[in-house]
Amino acid sequence: MSMNRCPKCDDIYDTDFQMEEVDGEMVCDRCWEKHEEDQDNRKLAEEVGDMEHILIQDNDSHWYVIPANKTNDWDAWTESKNYKEGVVPNYAKEVGGCPSLVIFKDYRIL
Ligand SMILES: [Zn+2]
Repeated sequence: MSMNRCPKCDDIYDTDFQMEEVDGEMVCDRCWEKHEEDQDNRKLAEEVGDMEHILIQDNDSHWYVIPANKTNDWDAWTESKNYKEGVVPNYAKEVGGCPSLVIFKDYRIL
């Protein structure tokens, strides 16, 4: 069994685990999934621009409205110290526990 260090997250992995290439480096499963998710978010951001908004939840099931092109920032925020301290990003509007409080003039479903 040989071990390998993931260059992105610094975790040590058994190389029997699948390693995937991201930006020319072999990274662990978790970093690969994160990379794929970031790419999906970027595609979404390009498609929607900053004039449309989405409903999104934090890790504690509270709802927010954010610009649809901010999902990468949002993911980073939910992992940040600011999140733990309750500092909400200025682009986000807190809704609370009930998404039906949000009223739309128009909508589309991606
Ligand atoms: Zn990793």
